[in-house]
Amino acid sequence: MDVSSILDSLNNVQREAVSCDKKSLLVLAGAGSGKTRVLVHRIAWLVQVQGMPASGIMAVTFTNKAAREMRTRISELLHLSPQGMWVGTFHGIAHRLLKAHWHDAGLPENFQIIDSDDQLRMVKRLLKEFELDDSRWSPKSVQWYINGHKDEGRRAAHVDHHEDPYEKTLVKLYQAYEVACERSGQVDFGELLLRAHELWLKQPAILNHYQQRFQHLLVDEFQDTNTIQYAWLRVLAGHAIDITVVGDDDQSIYGWRGAKIENIQQFAKDFNDTFTIKLEQNYRSTSMILDAANAVIANNPERLGKNLWTEGALGEPISLYAGFNEQDEARFIVEQIQGHVSEDTLLSEQAILYRSNAQSRVIEEELIRAGTPYRIYGGQRFYDRLEIKNAVAYLRLSHFRDDDAAFERVINTPTRGMGNKTVEMIRNRAREQNVSLWRASEELLSECSLTKRASTALAAFVELINDCGDAAGRLALDELTEFVLEATDLQAFHGKETGERGRARVENLQELVNATRQFEPESDASSALREFLDTAALDAGDAQADEYTDAVQLTTLHSAKGLEFPVVYLAGVEENLFPHRMSVEEPGRLEEERRLCYVGITRAMRLLYITYAECRRWYGQESFNTVSRFVKEIPAECLHEVRVNTNISRPVSAGRPQFAAENETGLALGQRVWHSVFGEGIVLNLEGQGSNSRVQVNFDDEGSKWLVAAYAKLESI
Ligand code: ATP
Ligand code: MG
Repeated sequence: MDVSSILDSLNNVQREAVSCDKKSLLVLAGAGSGKTRVLVHRIAWLVQVQGMPASGIMAVTFTNKAAREMRTRISELLHLSPQGMWVGTFHGIAHRLLKAHWHDAGLPENFQIIDSDDQLRMVKRLLKEFELDDSRWSPKSVQWYINGHKDEGRRAAHVDHHEDPYEKTLVKLYQAYEVACERSGQVDFGELLLRAHELWLKQPAILNHYQQRFQHLLVDEFQDTNTIQYAWLRVLAGHAIDITVVGDDDQSIYGWRGAKIENIQQFAKDFNDTFTIKLEQNYRSTSMILDAANAVIANNPERLGKNLWTEGALGEPISLYAGFNEQDEARFIVEQIQGHVSEDTLLSEQAILYRSNAQSRVIEEELIRAGTPYRIYGGQRFYDRLEIKNAVAYLRLSHFRDDDAAFERVINTPTRGMGNKTVEMIRNRAREQNVSLWRASEELLSECSLTKRASTALAAFVELINDCGDAAGRLALDELTEFVLEATDLQAFHGKETGERGRARVENLQELVNATRQFEPESDASSALREFLDTAALDAGDAQADEYTDAVQLTTLHSAKGLEFPVVYLAGVEENLFPHRMSVEEPGRLEEERRLCYVGITRAMRLLYITYAECRRWYGQESFNTVSRFVKEIPAECLHEVRVNTNISRPVSAGRPQFAAENETGLALGQRVWHSVFGEGIVLNLEGQGSNSRVQVNFDDEGSKWLVAAYAKLESI
């Protein structure tokens, strides 16, 4: 029994939490204050000091990676592997239970877990069965509807449709979906939780068994539990099992996926004699970084209230860099990364965090160009993303009809009523004749050997691809890409996916248009498509570093939860992007964005960079954004503005002639200027010579204008 080694590395309040003997404990604490550390040490304490068997412990974390890390840390502390202990995510643990009790849970022994794509296909089949028009009944929103109810613990039979005809249909679909899953033994993610909850309610003997077995439940990131997860925990714990939850209301960032921040307050009401401990000492970040985080989050109303402090170093001010555009922003970040590497900071100690997935593309390109290995955590590389692969497949087919992989990928994406049978016929024909799927399709069409329905669908597809092929002959690469997204309906198709995911997919597709616009072919414009496709294939191939290479970490802010890095770059911190423009309109969403910003800032241990682009191609348009309101909430003394505009070597938009950074007007790209009528603005472009010099300025209030330099009388500020 080694009490001292467990408590040694903790402060007094953490010790109190670790050794607390109350039945229910809530640790409510800010970022980096040691919540996860307390959880791990509490487990060690229970086993080593209280003599609890490892099998008496269940610990729930947010991701599988976090669960693995927790296991490692526990075994390091205990000097033995935590065998018999249940450590996992809610989904993982629910799955384990259902595997063990499939019969009592009403499932076949070999039930299958289906992912979101499978689920969507199932919904589509049902819509067809019910003859519902999928332009009115978007499959994605039906899917969202079903999952939303499952997260709330409601089966179709429990949903009150208030006699509303629209809602009645949705409930009918939900019901049919349940039947279809039941019949085929399929279980979606929400169903895992719902069934595990029902298992407790319907099988008291099983519940009783686990209540005897488990003696302590521990939950990390409690602020992001949803209704069904909380209900499941509550029934399991009952009055029988002790429970420790740790969380931070300021870090609740999954509201859009059903997480209930209120569960924190509910916990103290539902569990008798809850003892609450607050940890406020932060061990992760410098006080400069903490002051910034505290100041930002202070703008949120209705917080449970706590303030972080540190005994650590004051640290450097946060570097704020205003990129001239997104390439310049990326280049700045990569330069800093290399600078730190030369001062002995590993690449893996540096992380680039961003709000939207699509932002990674420009950053990835810059890293590839600089030969800097990187790894995308919790996500996919740009060219590996589903919607990008689909769009690129169309481009490939329009370039080269015999590309079978591309053909397979898009023949029914978006769905165009081509049955499996038809596709199978095409495959068979291709095999028999040893021709491509495209050629086989043409043959089948000319022989009229398909059913009328199938042949109409296939003919439409062939025509579509031919149209794209024609367009490839006459349009510039970016125009072609836009044409393809439009003509194939791909953008509308991916955009239908509800919520954050649909938005991210559309953003990624628009980012692909940007990529094609910025693409500079080595030879001439006519080979741009082919060259671009090659580049895309290579980018998807091997840019990502393998597990063992030292590599920069790239991740969205959402996936950065719970992690920490010595050096952090928050990229794209500008209005419309972060906070995301959609979130500004919905009530409560701005607060969630602010919490996301708080999560981002508090990932940094030693150094934090915040960057933004004054001009960014986003959704296919050049937009001029001001720095995020969140940056304005950071006290000035915590910020240090970095400006290296003279380094700019690229014009704002591709296609315009290249300029020297500064010309005879005495103005420089990126420089802030004042005009007597239009007010303050920033220089975006300079062109012409002598009295013909013209300057493009983006004015803060008036937007972008071209002015004749000689008359504009711009003053630099
Ligand atoms: P988050 O809110 O981001 O999940 P957290 O509250 O879970 O953070 P931890 O990740 O447990 O915080 O701890 C943050 C960092 O501080 C870790 O590197 C941890 O090892 C360190 N730390 C925590 N408590 C102490 C302590 N008493 N002494 C030294 N280091 C500590
Ligand atoms: Mg943590």
